[in-house]
Parts: sequence; structure tokens; C-alpha cells
Amino acid sequence: MTFAIHGLVVAPGIAIGRAVIAVSSRMEVVHYFIEADQINAEFVRLCHGRDAVVDELKRMQELLPADAPQELGALLDVHLMLLQDELLESGVKRWISERLYNAEWALTTQLEIISRQFDEMEDDYLRERKADLEQVVERILRYMRGVASPVAAPPASPRPAAGAQQGVLSEEFGDEPLVLIASDLSPADMLQFKSSVFAGFITDVGGKTSHTAIVARSMDIPAVVGARSASRLVRQDDWVIIDGDAGVVIVNPSPIILEEYGFRQRQVSLERERLSRLRHTPAVTLDGQPIQLLANIERPSDCEPSLRGGAVGVGLFRTEFLFMDRSGKLPDEEEQYVVYREVMENMHGLPVTVRTIDVGADKPLDKAHRDGSSLNPALGLRAIRWSLADTVMFRAQLRAILRAAQHGPVRLLFPMLSSLGEIQQALKQVEVARAELDARGVPYGPVEIGAMIEVPAAALMVRSFLKYFDFLSIGTNDLVQYTLAIDRADEAVAHLYDPMHPAVLHLVSDVIAAANAVGKHVSVCGEVGGDVTMTKLLLGFGLRSFSMHPAQILAVKQEILRADTHKLARWAQSILESENPAEMLGV
Ligand code: PEP
Ligand code: MG
Repeated sequence: MTFAIHGLVVAPGIAIGRAVIAVSSRMEVVHYFIEADQINAEFVRLCHGRDAVVDELKRMQELLPADAPQELGALLDVHLMLLQDELLESGVKRWISERLYNAEWALTTQLEIISRQFDEMEDDYLRERKADLEQVVERILRYMRGVASPVAAPPASPRPAAGAQQGVLSEEFGDEPLVLIASDLSPADMLQFKSSVFAGFITDVGGKTSHTAIVARSMDIPAVVGARSASRLVRQDDWVIIDGDAGVVIVNPSPIILEEYGFRQRQVSLERERLSRLRHTPAVTLDGQPIQLLANIERPSDCEPSLRGGAVGVGLFRTEFLFMDRSGKLPDEEEQYVVYREVMENMHGLPVTVRTIDVGADKPLDKAHRDGSSLNPALGLRAIRWSLADTVMFRAQLRAILRAAQHGPVRLLFPMLSSLGEIQQALKQVEVARAELDARGVPYGPVEIGAMIEVPAAALMVRSFLKYFDFLSIGTNDLVQYTLAIDRADEAVAHLYDPMHPAVLHLVSDVIAAANAVGKHVSVCGEVGGDVTMTKLLLGFGLRSFSMHPAQILAVKQEILRADTHKLARWAQSILESENPAEMLGV
């Protein structure tokens, strides 16, 4: 039966593929692809886990006291039987060998499938055996955890990548495009899937500017987040269409719907091809204003698509992704230096804005820290607050960045500053980091130092900020969140998250005007920077530098080539005076 699930628009485009349910409802496990030559080893790992549980249950059986309730013995029998069930074993084998899932992922995937079969059983007794199966699988997972491989970056696609353009539904299991469906994916999980085979993503939770959504967008593949119950409604291997433009997921589409979406997929690729011709066209407005288009990146390998997209530098390097899911062992100065230097080298002398670590809230350091102890993680120990609370870690990062500045122009950027005290402490740490390098005789380069304007306090005292910093970068994702008191990652309030709220627009235009007045560089690096519906308004406010996902650059450039900043300045003023800017903009 065909049905649709509505979520939030986060990454445009159309993807068609088989559903891969990544996270079982109860068990959080690591998901990664193995190489074809690891299939046997993975299977052995699984068998070890299973055999250990069989041994354990048998031991329990032997040790059962004579007066133990009869049901207990029967229950152990059921568990042993389930453990040796052919359906479980053959299914898991298939996920490992045909899809190259790691063993834990294969096991929970097969659990999901068998669980659904239990759900459909008429017999109450049999239906209740589902809980037994879950317990058995949990036991195996617990055993495997001791021998599990660490979460590894997925290998280069072990089989042809199922790109969004590959809309043809092949009957051959191994070549079918796949879409990933999960209850939730951490930004780090998402990053891991970055070079994977998935043609699209769907998550139950998340807001438009949650970091998971941002990473999905940066991967330039269609995604829908906030789809509430998708991971429960869609079944493993169902055919699914992701309509990223409408934020809709169509499950088990009919042939006629498939044909329509196949057509739309082809249109999207034609439009991309047309835009790609703008790559070498300078971004200059009709009235001759040059505009700087920069890329937001998360790792060194993002530089190549940035340059291909026409970026003239990096406006935001989110360094925190280097620190995530490291099981407590954070990268030291040397490891960071190597990564930052690689980015500088990849950008061939173009400016790179390196933001110091911004963890916390929806970017936990690892899964164990997901919920944190804080009641309001977005208002808690996040970003610069986290760095200032651990100055040893902070200075290791600062030293690595200063050293990387020998290899090209670096702009050092601090996230989430909100007071003079924090400004002074952060700048002091830079001084100490330089002194530490001097003492060690380690060379480093000059850096410009900038502040993100992403809390209302910073926007309101922007003139003071300008006294201390060489440049500013407006983080609209957080500025909207903190101005409107809307959690950017919470789909329940996603409809209230409004970058066009008059209060937000006033703050943004005021920051741009203040920086322009003193001749200091200012850019917008939040999602608004890559939103073509906002490009002209930002130009009208006086913005001349935009930073965004590489995939957005050419579409924004197209807007710029059609713009006249003189006319836009007057028009932007009238929008600012309006109580309903979104209506005036027609969005
Ligand atoms: C922002 O808040 O707009 C921003 C660019 O930072 P991040 O999305 O990483 O919080
Ligand atoms: Mg931010």
C-alpha cells in the first residue's frame, strides 16, 4: 500500500531507493560498512557472540536449582531455540554478505524483520516471544561489544554508489539504491555516512537547522527530517521516494508515481548541469559589486567540492567534527595541526576560517554525552564556554591553528561569544598559545581573529565586539534559535523557527551595517547564507560575503548575477520596516 509521511524540508532533490532502517527501536548500535574481504571475519565475530550466549544460557540451565519455577527452565529453552533459529542466522548472514553491514547492524536489522513477523501473529503466546527474541539479541550485542571493531569511517564505497541520479529500480539486490531511515542520527553518524552509498536520508526527529540536517545538506543528497514515525512505519527494504523539496516521503509508490518522480529527478540533474556553467563566472552584481562566496566545510575532503562549486575560500570550518565519537580520546595538537594544514593545502592559498570547537547541545562529543546532564544543553556548556572551561584542550587547538597559519591565510573564529569577559578570556588564550609555541621554538603564522555573532547579546553589543575583532561572522542558525527561544533541533517547534522574523532581520541588518561602517569584514555563515530566497535581502542589507554548503554556491551566484544592490538597499529597508517580511518576500 502506498502512503506518504510528512517531515521538514532540509536538503532538496529527489531520491528513490530501498529503505535501510538504521536504528532499531530499542537498541543503539554502531553502523558501518565493511569491506568485501571482511565478510567472513564479521560473521565469525557474530558467531562468537552468539556461542558465548549459548554457553551462558546452558550454564544457567545446569545451575538452575531444583525448586526453580518450571517456567524459568522453559524460558531458557525458548531463548536457546531462538538463538539457533535458522531465520535469524540466515538473515543476518545475508545482511552481512550482500549489504556489507557490520555484524551489529545486520543483527538488529534482522531483529526488526522478525519482530514484525511476530507482531502479525494471531496467537498471543507466539506474539509475546518477540520480547524473548529482543532479549536474546541484546545478550549477543552485549557480548560483541567487548570485541566489536571501533566505529570506523566507512570504506570507500564497496560497490557502486547509489547516487540520487540513479533512479532506475533494478531487480538486482546488490545494485539497488538505498535510503537510510533512522529514528535519529547524530551529526557524527551522519558525517560517517558522508561518503557512503545512501541516496537519501530520513529521520524521525530533528529541526531544519539541527546539525544533523546541516550535515545532510552539506552532503548534497535529498533528506527529510522530523518525519516523526518514519522509522516505525517504513519497513526494511520497502521502496521509498524522498521528495526533499516538499519534505515528503512516499512509501511503496505505485508505478505511475515512480515515473513522475523519475522525471523530476532528471529535471533536477539538468538544472544542476545548467548551473555548473556558472562555476568560473565572477560573482559580481549587475551594478558591479563583487561578492565573496565562501564554503562551509566539516573536514579536509570537503575542500575539493568547495573549489569545484566555485568557492573563493572557506568561511566556516566546523572543527568539532574532528573531536566527535573519539571515545574520550580527543585529538592532540599534532593530530589537529595535520588536519588543519591539509585544509590549507587543499585550498591552495585561499583564506580559511577555522572556527574553534563548538560542541554541546545537538553536537555531543560522543553518544554517551548525548543528553548531557544539563536540562537545557543549548543554553549550557557549549562552544566557547566549553573551551574556556578546559583551557588546556582549548590552547592545544589554538596552537594547532596558529601553526597551520604558516601554510596559508587563516581566520581564527570563536563561536557563541556573548560577553566582554569571554572575549577577553578567549583573546588571552591566543596570547598564551603563541607564548607556548615561542617557548618550544615552534613556528606559526599570523591570523586574523573574528567572532561569531550568534546570540542576541552579541548582536546588540556588536559595536563593542568590533573593537576587539578583525572580522565578524553571523551564525543565523543559532541567532534565530536564541532570539526566538526555539530549539533548532526540536521538530515540535520547527514551524516557529523563522529566520525572517522581524526581530532576527533587525539584528542581522544591524550587525552588517555596524561592521560596514568601520570597514571590517562581515559574512553570514548560517543556513540563511545559502538560502536563495534570502540572497537579495542580505545584499540589500549590505552583505558582501556569504558562506554556505558548497552545493549551494552556484544557485546563490545566479541570484547575485541578477541583483542590483542600489535598488535592493531601498527595498530591504522597506522589508525591515514591515511587520510581516516573509509575506513581502513572497516566501
Ligand atoms: C550558526 O549558528 O549559524 C552556525 C553557522 O553555527 P552552527 O550551525 O555550527 O551552530
Ligand atoms: Mg552556531
